[in-house]
Amino acid sequence: MPEQLNPELLALRDRCATFASEHMVPLGDLDYGDAAAKVRAASKQVGLFGLTQPDSEIAKDSKQLALCVARETLAAANPPAMDAVFGPSAGVLGQVGEPLASTHLAPLLAGEKRGSFGFTEPDDAEPTRGVIEGERLIINGQKSYVTGGADADFINALVRIEGHGPSMVVIDTETEGVILEKRFNSLDGSHHAAFRFEQVSVPVAHVIGELGQGLPKAMRQIGDVRLLFAAQACGYLIWVMDLLQTHLQSPDKSGAPRGDKDVVRWHYADLRIKAFAARSMLYRTARLADQGENIVNEGMACKVFATECIGEAVDTAIQLVGGSALVDDHPLAILYKKVRAWRLAEGASDVLRLNIGRGILELGKGRV
Ligand SMILES: Cc1cc2nc3c(=O)[nH]c(=O)nc-3n(C[C@H](O)[C@H](O)[C@H](O)COP(=O)(O)OP(=O)(O)OC[C@H]3O[C@@H](n4cnc5c(N)ncnc54)[C@H](O)[C@@H]3O)c2cc1C
Repeated sequence: MPEQLNPELLALRDRCATFASEHMVPLGDLDYGDAAAKVRAASKQVGLFGLTQPDSEIAKDSKQLALCVARETLAAANPPAMDAVFGPSAGVLGQVGEPLASTHLAPLLAGEKRGSFGFTEPDDAEPTRGVIEGERLIINGQKSYVTGGADADFINALVRIEGHGPSMVVIDTETEGVILEKRFNSLDGSHHAAFRFEQVSVPVAHVIGELGQGLPKAMRQIGDVRLLFAAQACGYLIWVMDLLQTHLQSPDKSGAPRGDKDVVRWHYADLRIKAFAARSMLYRTARLADQGENIVNEGMACKVFATECIGEAVDTAIQLVGGSALVDDHPLAILYKKVRAWRLAEGASDVLRLNIGRGILELGKGRV
């Protein structure tokens, strides 16, 4: 439960709450780029920037819980430029050996190179494939939805290598044959790219970890991100509940509090029940992860439930507040766009439900 945090995590929660109110919320009128630059600089100064990085000393025995506490607390203020608080994490490059440790991981963590993640492919395309020729790996294929790809120095891409199977491979975007086909933005304001690989030649040493072990590596990375989506969704749930409480305790035209109407109260209570459940799931799952337990099913359940809850909560809040909440710059209108992507990104809700069903019925896994 969020109530049973140790003193170190309580201190982290206080630091994040103070950081959000002092360094983030006041930047609400700036455009994203300016706000992000200020948040990044302030976060480095107060020592939050490195929380996602491998050598962070903050709560090192309860890393997942610390990340969830931090993200939830920051999101509870619904501040601008949330993505700028934390530095890049190692992602699939965690524990990578040489030469990638020096050529890609170190510059990534130092902010000198930008990485991206290439997993999703067009429905009508052959899977991205690679063939080993001596010391080189020759890659052909497509990746259709690479967040930040147009500005990235490299893509960590899932490649089906002949004779070995799916492997994660570092592909520098400057390499000959890497074709940036399209840049596009999604509803939440993030930027993506579609790539085509035509006879791209990279050193075999660019395979991350062991040949053929790419899928579990990619899924581990996706699993970590799923829990963080859930944490951020829980933070936004707190923010929406606070906003609704203020709104419903304020009087309508008749002078009576808006929350006096039974139907309004019913909707509000229903959201609070779901927010309580989402937060309880999140904290339990983060603790299991820190104990070294396999949380694949629980992480999927947290992501599906929390992202669907926040979608419903923002939608209902707009309904209860009325038309003013649909004006472009209303925080609920902005949040509506921000959270919609989460029901698809890092696994569509429908597909994750099927995976949870499979985990129970066919593999006997998990606690859900
Ligand atoms: C903001 C954002 C950022 C993203 N960033 C990245 C990134 O950095 N790297 C990356 O690789 N990808 C990224 N993606 C892509 C994301 O991973 C995919 O959108 C997601 O996995 C869903 O795949 P899809 O879009 O191909 O939809 P589909 O897989 O086609 O799913 C669409 C719908 O079809 C149905 N469906 C699909 N499969 C099944 C099934 N097996 N059984 C039953 N029903 C099914 C479901 O209703 C599902 O909701 C991002 C997406 C978004 C929205």
